[in-house]
Amino acid sequence: MSKIVIVEDDPVIREELALLLGNEGYQAAAVSSFSDISQQIREAAPDLILLDLGLPGRDGTSLCAEIRKTSRTPIIFVTSRDSASDELRALSLGGDDYITKPYNIPVLLARIRAVLRRTGGLAEPDTLEAKGLTLHLARGTASAEGRFVELTRNELKILSYLMGHAGQIVSRADLIDTLWDSQIYIDDNTLSVNMTRLRTKLKEIGLPNLIKTRRGMGYQL
Ligand code: CA
Repeated sequence: MSKIVIVEDDPVIREELALLLGNEGYQAAAVSSFSDISQQIREAAPDLILLDLGLPGRDGTSLCAEIRKTSRTPIIFVTSRDSASDELRALSLGGDDYITKPYNIPVLLARIRAVLRRTGGLAEPDTLEAKGLTLHLARGTASAEGRFVELTRNELKILSYLMGHAGQIVSRADLIDTLWDSQIYIDDNTLSVNMTRLRTKLKEIGLPNLIKTRRGMGYQL
């Protein structure tokens, strides 16, 4: 049974969601206070998080970014904010899907099933290895010779794509396409920022030159 944590400050919606998910056979839990949400989520160890954007004292996107530092648990935003910029920000900070209130119940449930199916990870390997680097997909970390570094979701996707094409030149457009396929919305500039951070992290584990730039063509592992 999949466990879903609801982070929602409106008690009516919170109870409606809990009831709805319970009826669908999910184990639903709602956070009880909004001061230590990350810790409550860690303790609950859910399979999926439903996250509101407007929370008391903080914004759901900053919470999402905080969760993403240590966890790849899928996050669906359920929010009354319907601007493209809110949606873009939420997805680029690590959200897996975005649903606006008032939500259509069958659509909400279908999206939850889709995200759980996509992130269930049964068919995916747990680790990838290439050029002395090991990528731990479920943990979201990379390691080389006993040194570990944590990766963001974007960094993990970029690195796993490069590792899957080790030795080949991968264009920036290929990387952007791959990230789009994974529901991560990213532009050219964001890719550059991610690449710089990724190289800094690889340097920390002793692989400063793992990703080479092939001028005018792209990147190569
Ligand atoms: Ca709210």
